[in-house]
Amino acid sequence: MSLVLDAKKGIITDEMKEVARQEGLDPEYIRRGLAGGHIAIPVSPYRKVRLCGIGEGLRTKVNASIGTSSDIVDIDVEVEKARQAELAGADTLMELSTGGDLVEIRRRVIAGTNLSVGSVPLYQAFIEAAHRYGAIVHMREDDLFRITAEQARAGTNFMAIHTGINYETMKRLKNQGRHGGLVSRGGAFMTAWMLHNQKENPLYSEFDYLCEIMLEHEVTLSMGNGMRAGAVHDATDRAQVQELLINAELADKAHERGIQVIVEGPGHIPIDEIQANVILQKRVTNRKPFYMLGPLVTDIAPGYDDRVAMIGASLSSAYGADFICYVTPAEHLALPTPEEVYEGVISSRIAAHVGDMVKLGRRDDDLEMGHARRDLDWERQFAVALNPEFAREIRDSRRSADSDACTMCGDYCALKIVRKNFSF
Ligand code: SF4
Repeated sequence: MSLVLDAKKGIITDEMKEVARQEGLDPEYIRRGLAGGHIAIPVSPYRKVRLCGIGEGLRTKVNASIGTSSDIVDIDVEVEKARQAELAGADTLMELSTGGDLVEIRRRVIAGTNLSVGSVPLYQAFIEAAHRYGAIVHMREDDLFRITAEQARAGTNFMAIHTGINYETMKRLKNQGRHGGLVSRGGAFMTAWMLHNQKENPLYSEFDYLCEIMLEHEVTLSMGNGMRAGAVHDATDRAQVQELLINAELADKAHERGIQVIVEGPGHIPIDEIQANVILQKRVTNRKPFYMLGPLVTDIAPGYDDRVAMIGASLSSAYGADFICYVTPAEHLALPTPEEVYEGVISSRIAAHVGDMVKLGRRDDDLEMGHARRDLDWERQFAVALNPEFAREIRDSRRSADSDACTMCGDYCALKIVRKNFSF
């Protein structure tokens, strides 16, 4: 089974029809997007999910990443985070645990969600190597590919695979230096392994074998961004661009074989470089779906990084990014709680919508809200609100007993004053 190969043969599958229905588009548009590599629909032969189309012409999608760390391991809390992410309206979930029984945590999270689930198989490969052989640098290549296949069989829909870190990328990194170092765990693990073993990254050197696994299990390949900047001063540097060029070439190769591909992007970027990053990424990848991680537009606001990411994500989406990874208020400080996961998803959904207002011209809901506000029609306002319960809760907690305005201006409600003298 391969949606790409079906699409190339001109077949419109049920998955394509469902995504077309969700987006209000012609199924033929979705088929052409899959055939051309501009749209992906992460699926799994092992599990039914709420389908989610990612790519050109589609609503910007939001991913929520959850998972344990080596310090905090509580499976029930991770299952609750998955629930909160889904409740808040996330489109996909990435299960990125690095502490505890990784197989069992993934099984429980996958069993507890209807969303497409992504993973990073090399985390498990490196962490198991640390436990079994004493250090991550002793990771065995066979284990990496075995774990990738096992995670696929467990029902994983898409995988972030760090294919673009090779000797060339490392050379760029070494020659130029970095203010913020490396912030990708996958990038750091693989770099350490390559330097210790003096060997090429097996995900790059054995890319054909990796493609066989992806194709056999119909996993969507998300080309990992291990060299992303972790500080705005490193944005768009040589190592990041080198990795992107390698990923772009491999992405074409994978898609030609029938694999759905997404290409990840940074990271930390000042706002005046976001547009350039989107154009560059779309241009060199032949318009593959662009998965933007963040981006964070300043480094000075720990505790508020969900809001910092909203600025970057809304601009990214407006310029053409297709998929954004949420950021929680706990970013850079601690493992997020279920409440912070919920907050992060809501923030990212707002950013995605702001971007779609420009990218897709989707403004109907905003227009409806404008009319409902003008008419002081509160039920219509709640109906179109992104989080109706929260909006209702605030209004009800401080409501005027005898007015249909709100308590912000009370008797001096501008809308009521104007309505007495003017009709729109
Ligand atoms: S009272 Fe003020 S804030 Fe409230 S609805 Fe009227 S104009 Fe808007």
